[in-house]
Amino acid sequence: MSEERINIKDVTPKVKPKYTNVGADNHIYVRNMTGVFQRLRKYMGWFFMVLFLALPLFQWDGHQAILLNIAEQRIHIFALTIFPQDLMLLALLLIVGAFALFFITAYLGRVWCGFMCPQTIWTFIFIWFEEKIEGSANKRLKLNQGPVTTDKVKKKALKHSAWLSVSVITGLAFMAYFVPVFELYTDFFTLQASGNVYFWVLFFAFCTYGNAGWMRSIMCTHMCPYARFQSAMFDTDTLIVGYDFNRGESRGPRSRKADHKAKGLGDCIDCNLCVQVCPAGIDIRDGLQYECINCGACIDACDQTMERMNYPKGLIRYTSENELNNKPHEKSRFKLIGYGVIMTLMTIMFVVSVVSISPVQMDIIRDRNALYRENSDGNIENTYTLKIINKTSFTQKYSLSVTDVPDHEWFGPREIEVLPGELLVQPVSLAIDPFDLKQPVIKINFVITEQGNDHYVFTQQSRFISKL
Ligand code: SF4
Ligand code: SF4
Repeated sequence: MSEERINIKDVTPKVKPKYTNVGADNHIYVRNMTGVFQRLRKYMGWFFMVLFLALPLFQWDGHQAILLNIAEQRIHIFALTIFPQDLMLLALLLIVGAFALFFITAYLGRVWCGFMCPQTIWTFIFIWFEEKIEGSANKRLKLNQGPVTTDKVKKKALKHSAWLSVSVITGLAFMAYFVPVFELYTDFFTLQASGNVYFWVLFFAFCTYGNAGWMRSIMCTHMCPYARFQSAMFDTDTLIVGYDFNRGESRGPRSRKADHKAKGLGDCIDCNLCVQVCPAGIDIRDGLQYECINCGACIDACDQTMERMNYPKGLIRYTSENELNNKPHEKSRFKLIGYGVIMTLMTIMFVVSVVSISPVQMDIIRDRNALYRENSDGNIENTYTLKIINKTSFTQKYSLSVTDVPDHEWFGPREIEVLPGELLVQPVSLAIDPFDLKQPVIKINFVITEQGNDHYVFTQQSRFISKL
């Protein structure tokens, strides 16, 4: 049997592989970039970082200005103290925050993600350390692909130590919003803190290290719910980072002096700088993608290329889909106005609720076992349990009284002292001569007066029941 070989011709189309900054290890090698938006992001990142670290250090009226004290069930936000009874305020605040985010997203796209989101801020801090220790994106790629050497181990150890230090500082600073800050820092470093505190600090440190060091854009694209539903707020007039396809195509390399238009080329020289700097690992020239966090790094990169080529800047720019398609750009849209109106209304509701919040609360529970009883003097007696909550941050003395009631005897203390945030349960009884009672049920009012502040009076209605 003769061996015949079949001639095979390779007909695979010679398509240039798509450029990407995602390595074979699925890691995104972000090239460092400077420019207007990178400076803006850096300054904003610093501002929010300093704010995050410094806010728990402020004191207000003898307590930590911002403290979510879970153990004592109260939240301090400067002059405002929220108890579980006022959680509605927190819900309102969250609704205001949500509508502010909807409004900003509909108007300015994902600027929150690009400039204010902690995930972005911490990721760029971690990339900064990576760049300083391991070098540029290319060097990092080579280092990761290369063999294990002493230099590689040293660099990796240094980088991870830096990341872990930032993570522990972050975990501690975050815990300072839940545990009084000075107590936390001294106890933590003198190894006197509770196991719970060590657990949570290390848990948040681990989350920071994992999210900003390893997960990065995976967090934004696969885990963040905002990334998923933000497209519902977008419309064709929302500000996006967009590539001017009409101006840029067809793309291709050329010399600076060449008349590219005569060659049928657009302004994109296909330098791939916009892809190299993208922390999301995408090519914005493929159109709007949900991975894009609107950080503007590709704008800075492309503007530098345009400047070098003596072309006008803005081939990639903050724009809208309508503007890119030469359609009129509508600034005031129904959706935007709707979000703005709801946000304003909710803000007004929140402010009104804060202003009218009562510093003391009283609930009255009537004795369920006996509606009334006749005492040894022949008077009708009703028993009540007063539940009084001092919602201020100070110990308060209150006077108790009752109004809209005929001549009566009061059994129970007339003055009480309630600690900050304490719920005091105080039984009291009222006895009335039956000849003074004209109806079987009369409406009465229990009154709390803050001692030393006669202007502040809190009234709560109840009933006095007799056998008539
Ligand atoms: S495409 Fe541009 S704006 Fe979007 S994430 Fe990448 S670099 Fe940032
Ligand atoms: S940076 Fe600008 S010129 Fe370079 S590839 Fe991107 S869009 Fe084209």
